[in-house]
Amino acid sequence: MSRLDSVIRRLRAQQACLERAAALIRGLPGPVFELGLGNGRTYDHLCQLCPEREIFVFDRQVTAGADRVPDAEHLFLGDIHETLTAAAARFGRSVALIHSDIGTGNAEGNARIAGFLSGQVPAFLCPGGIVVSDQDLAYQGAQALPLPAGVPPGRYFMYQAQ
Ligand code: SAM
Repeated sequence: MSRLDSVIRRLRAQQACLERAAALIRGLPGPVFELGLGNGRTYDHLCQLCPEREIFVFDRQVTAGADRVPDAEHLFLGDIHETLTAAAARFGRSVALIHSDIGTGNAEGNARIAGFLSGQVPAFLCPGGIVVSDQDLAYQGAQALPLPAGVPPGRYFMYQAQ
């Protein structure tokens, strides 16, 4: 598979999983968390899928174009280990959807962040809430959801909180 094929598959997987997740949380109150703004592609898609919801974004830096950056009230700027931990008291288990695409580009860093997130995500997701992740969060106590058609196992991960 070429690098181009791989990127296309990743973007298709993100699109399909986010659309499935947005449908699953219909009728569930609560904000959306986007972990990893990057170019703002998936943030922009979430804004279109969930226009009625508040979307809070976490990233250590802003590199997206101005039209894909949330306002200051919805942007947690800094290292996720600090910003997400600090947000726990404010949000509690109120979040309907978390999308995590915070890959670092190296397997060791990814495993470290996945380990951190698997400890944090349960403190945020409301019962029935969904997490969609580029990393396997090994989310204890949540139901692993089947992936949308066309998304190969291991490409993306979806869980529903109990
Ligand atoms: N979802 C984005 C999109 O569609 O454009 C792409 C996100 S990009 C793959 C990953 C992002 O995670 C980068 O913007 C990077 O700055 C951020 N990131 C990586 N490690 C981080 C950390 N420890 N704390 C905060 N942000 C981090």
